[in-house]
Amino acid sequence: MITDAGRLVGIMRRFDAIVIGGGLVGTAIGYGLACAGLRAVLVDEGDVAYRASRGNFGLVWVQSKGLGAPHYQRWTRASAAAWPSLAADLEERTGVEIGLEQRGGLQLCLGEDELAKRRAMMEQMHREAGNFGFEYRMLDRAELAAMLPGIGPRVTGASWTPYDGHANSLALFHALHRGFAKKGGTYLPNSTVSEASAAPGDFRIESGGETIAAPKIVLAAGLGNAELAPLFGLSAPVRPQRGQILVTERTTRAWPLPLGSIRQTPEGSILLGSSEEEVGFDTSQKPEIMQKIARRAVLSFPWLAELQIVRAWAALRVMPPDGLPIYDESERFPGAFTANCHSGVTLAGAHAGLFAPMVAAGALDPVLAPFSAKRFDVPEAA
Ligand SMILES: Cc1cc2nc3c(=O)[nH]c(=O)nc-3n(C[C@H](O)[C@H](O)[C@H](O)COP(=O)(O)OP(=O)(O)OC[C@H]3O[C@@H](n4cnc5c(N)ncnc54)[C@H](O)[C@@H]3O)c2cc1C
Repeated sequence: MITDAGRLVGIMRRFDAIVIGGGLVGTAIGYGLACAGLRAVLVDEGDVAYRASRGNFGLVWVQSKGLGAPHYQRWTRASAAAWPSLAADLEERTGVEIGLEQRGGLQLCLGEDELAKRRAMMEQMHREAGNFGFEYRMLDRAELAAMLPGIGPRVTGASWTPYDGHANSLALFHALHRGFAKKGGTYLPNSTVSEASAAPGDFRIESGGETIAAPKIVLAAGLGNAELAPLFGLSAPVRPQRGQILVTERTTRAWPLPLGSIRQTPEGSILLGSSEEEVGFDTSQKPEIMQKIARRAVLSFPWLAELQIVRAWAALRVMPPDGLPIYDESERFPGAFTANCHSGVTLAGAHAGLFAPMVAAGALDPVLAPFSAKRFDVPEAA
């Protein structure tokens, strides 16, 4: 028992950093903090979450990120570049195979309209990348047919970039947790944080009858961040966006690389996805959406109609208002940070290898300034 300003506050454990949220974002940051030598604690509500980290599509995807926002393209590219060493380190440290394949990716287009829009988008991304560069190619139907056997008559072409890939995101999640523990991190499951005491460089939360204290805290609680952020002088206006995914029975390996909404695992299952639905916190599956996903897949590859669907699910993305991540440090309570995004698989490399070291050093790098939630502050009309 200890006393704090005359109050009996129970047992207190001190760490260098608290991370709230044990999903992909919090665990990647926790792992990065532990690798940077900090004594970190990961506090998680438990398996009652909306399953973004357990229900995603598993793409490490660059080619559609950052149209009109080149800073997001650069951040995503930095993360994709960090992925091979993150995967190798985790595999070596934990023995968990993450199954990263990163030989580029294709986004198929059905019809001339889609192809024209895609070409314009890729040209704009190339222009906006400036000296940083953005390597891509538009493939016509003939080139694509030679590469991907059995494409449907409606397929007109595809965009390709070398940066894309895919991985077993559940294995990544498992490996991050294991790696965090192996680096000395403390994991506190079944702990919902609803109150906190915040002072500059001094943060305290209650968990299982004890007080957890640290000079740094990172809010990485996915959709839970919307309520937690104001307690720390931060803002994280994220909303749920539902995505549904279908999985086929296993079949022989058909493609050498992932496609934007169709990917085959090394074991042979084909994932078809994923819808983008604004339905609040509703995680139910809808047959009409599942049919839409299946129809597009069969238009892309008619032979897919022969395969059985063996699994399907719905999960909620953590979606900021403009679709770009929110990274911030509290001005009122220095030492409090937040991380929010809808691409936690893709950005795992950046969260572990770039964001966490910034937190460990005590301040976010100015390259993250455009990701501040301040961008949503609208001046009041006169
Ligand atoms: C259908 C779908 C497809 C996707 N496909 C891809 C893809 O191909 N590639 C990609 O990069 N990304 C993809 N994503 C996104 C990716 O899964 C998410 O960005 C990522 O999982 C978000 O992780 P998170 O840790 O922020 O959130 P979550 O996974 O929701 O984890 C948040 C955690 O915080 C905990 N928590 C919440 N509130 C509290 C509290 N008050 N106290 C303590 N703990 C709390 C929860 O219990 C939970 O464990 C997809 C998502 C969906 C839904």
